[in-house]
Amino acid sequence: MDSKVYDVVIIGGGIVGLSTAMQLKERSPNWRIAVVEKESELAGHQTGHNSGVIHSGIYYRPDSQKAKFCVAGLQALLTFCDENEIEYEQCGKVIVALNQEEVGRLETLQERGVANGVKGLEMIGPERLKEIEPHAAGIQALWAPYTGIIDYRKVALAYANRFQQAGGDIFTDAPVSKIARRSDSMVVETPSAELQAKHIINCAGLYADRVATMMGEDVDVRIIPFRGEYFTLRPESHHLVKGLIYPVPDPRFPFLGVHYTRNIHGQVEAGPNAVLALKREGYKKSDWNLAESMGTFTYPGFWKMAAKFWKIGMQEMRRSYSKSIFVRDLKKLLPEIEAEDLAPGGSGVRAQAVARSGALLDDFSILRGKDAVHVLNAPSPGATSSLAIGSHIAELAVEAFEGAA
Ligand SMILES: Cc1cc2nc3c(=O)[nH]c(=O)nc-3n(C[C@H](O)[C@H](O)[C@H](O)COP(=O)(O)OP(=O)(O)OC[C@H]3O[C@@H](n4cnc5c(N)ncnc54)[C@H](O)[C@@H]3O)c2cc1C
Repeated sequence: MDSKVYDVVIIGGGIVGLSTAMQLKERSPNWRIAVVEKESELAGHQTGHNSGVIHSGIYYRPDSQKAKFCVAGLQALLTFCDENEIEYEQCGKVIVALNQEEVGRLETLQERGVANGVKGLEMIGPERLKEIEPHAAGIQALWAPYTGIIDYRKVALAYANRFQQAGGDIFTDAPVSKIARRSDSMVVETPSAELQAKHIINCAGLYADRVATMMGEDVDVRIIPFRGEYFTLRPESHHLVKGLIYPVPDPRFPFLGVHYTRNIHGQVEAGPNAVLALKREGYKKSDWNLAESMGTFTYPGFWKMAAKFWKIGMQEMRRSYSKSIFVRDLKKLLPEIEAEDLAPGGSGVRAQAVARSGALLDDFSILRGKDAVHVLNAPSPGATSSLAIGSHIAELAVEAFEGAA
């Protein structure tokens, strides 16, 4: 079997792995770098199954990596897209408060957004809301004019292209099944190729904890997959949504609540919800994998999380199986919407890291191992932040691996 030697092997050809590959190759052009991806195409999982929103950085705790990387990543992303002729649109977004309690939470969000350096945020009343989104309900709203929409798969493929043009190698159809340690390197085994790596960067998304464990790292988190299901508005109902309409999120939960998204391809999507998936890449309700669900159910952190969130979890499950409950919730934001306006849409699965304590990791988690960097938590706004995350990892890698490479 082929055995190629690399300074750095990046596992995972999603937007984070590819951004890292592109930027690491730019910083260290002489390093031999490869990306290995288990699927036949790049960007087929979270990167290709998301809402396609360019987030502006409102929600995240100031000083968190999510806040810093989202705000910096957004600017870098727009510049990259301008330079590479990738279509995007800053259509703006409203987060609507439906009652006084939500107005209080909206004010907190505005404070966070301002602290994070989000530009153009404006608290608006019902009249201005009607100008922006004529069909949305709400007694007050936070208007984020620079939030945008994009196709992240295209962005990831452009990163891949730049990386290859700079001399990087990409292997697809190459699921990493074993990583064997030798005295001065590691052997990354896939069915089609065997790669020798001095260093590894683990960007395996839904399998990042598994890859870390393959390397003998004792990581204290488990990836728990949460499926997000969408409905698509029928074309006759597209006029109901001009841009992006979001609810005020429940602060106890890391997901943003079901919302309306006009995407860059002109469709309007409603969702995603957040239901526990019984398979890490379980895009359908019926998808199930015994070993993977046992992995979830035997993890003590899962039960601690379940004890805390069982009520919300049950509500999400009920809503997943009942279109009328989904419609009832969507109607709160858009009273004119009816079940007939909605056709079944796609889905995505979020890789959410959960600690042994049962806490859902709130921030990105990027750890330096002995001869590796592991990205253990890169949920939303990971795609918006991809250039900032990749630049951070490339910096860490140069610092940690230089001299050794
Ligand atoms: C429903 C949903 C909606 C979202 N909406 C948004 C949004 O609007 N805006 C935003 O900014 N973010 C959003 N996100 C988050 C965003 O999609 C992720 O943060 C981002 O895609 C993470 O990229 P990644 O490269 O880490 O993971 P992935 O794209 O999942 O890539 C990981 C790759 O690793 C590969 N891999 C795994 N194991 C192995 C192995 N053993 N060997 C080889 N390859 C392997 C996988 O096949 C995969 O291609 C959303 C996510 C979801 C699921």
